[in-house]
Amino acid sequence: MTDRESPDVERPLTGGVAADVVSARLAYVDSHCHTEDDEAFDRARAAGVAAFVVVGCDLASSQRAVALADTHADVYATVGLHPHEARHLDREWDELVDLVAAPKVVGIGEAGFDLYYEHSEIEDQARAFARQIGLAHERDLALVIHSRDAWDATVECLEREGVPRRTIFHCFSGGPREAERALALGCSLSYSGIVSFKTADDLRAAAAMTPIDRLLCETDAPYLAPVPKRGKPNEPGFLPYVVAALAAARSEPIELVASATVTNAISAFGLGPV
Ligand SMILES: [Zn+2]
Repeated sequence: MTDRESPDVERPLTGGVAADVVSARLAYVDSHCHTEDDEAFDRARAAGVAAFVVVGCDLASSQRAVALADTHADVYATVGLHPHEARHLDREWDELVDLVAAPKVVGIGEAGFDLYYEHSEIEDQARAFARQIGLAHERDLALVIHSRDAWDATVECLEREGVPRRTIFHCFSGGPREAERALALGCSLSYSGIVSFKTADDLRAAAAMTPIDRLLCETDAPYLAPVPKRGKPNEPGFLPYVVAALAAARSEPIELVASATVTNAISAFGLGPV
């Protein structure tokens, strides 16, 4: 027993997950995670996470996301091809399109450009992104964008193909200038644990200028655990830390940011009641 756990202090109900920022009154929606582990979902529920958008990166992970959504009332799925996997477009496209018809598929992606790693050629990334933008239009689904070191390519492709009605920059990592560009296109910005990192002043400035009705939050678990869990495998139960950091960057109460991000996630993805 440590000196922070005396017998007459009530133990947190969360199993330690984000216990210090969890309030029983708050609910959260994790707008983007890659979690498949039931115990991690349970810990997140205990921390107040009321719904999860599990995001596909290729055919296999999209199929697993759809299967999770089938069996868990609070899990929703997206179907997509990550820019890393864009070279598999022709092989996987038909089955990806079929999968989009499954119940509780709420978005296309993650799709876009990653010119930091460039695991697929830029031409393949462009083709896969354009195709997925078209699919989001056709099915009137949310488009989940992954854009790393690729602002110009991402914006050009969006402008060329037309911006779907509900488009989300996942793990938004730009500064105020990039935020302005994305907002001018009508997009929402989803903030991850990066907003809690010491060096992320530019991102916090972007968070501060994002209109509250365009604000989403996510863990991107298992990546990018927020402070104070940085360096550990991330999980949706750490979402309250992300929201706390986002609220601090905006100088707003945590309650306000939590409830706005829930409302915005419901409308951006067309989720059922949470
Ligand atoms: Zn992701």
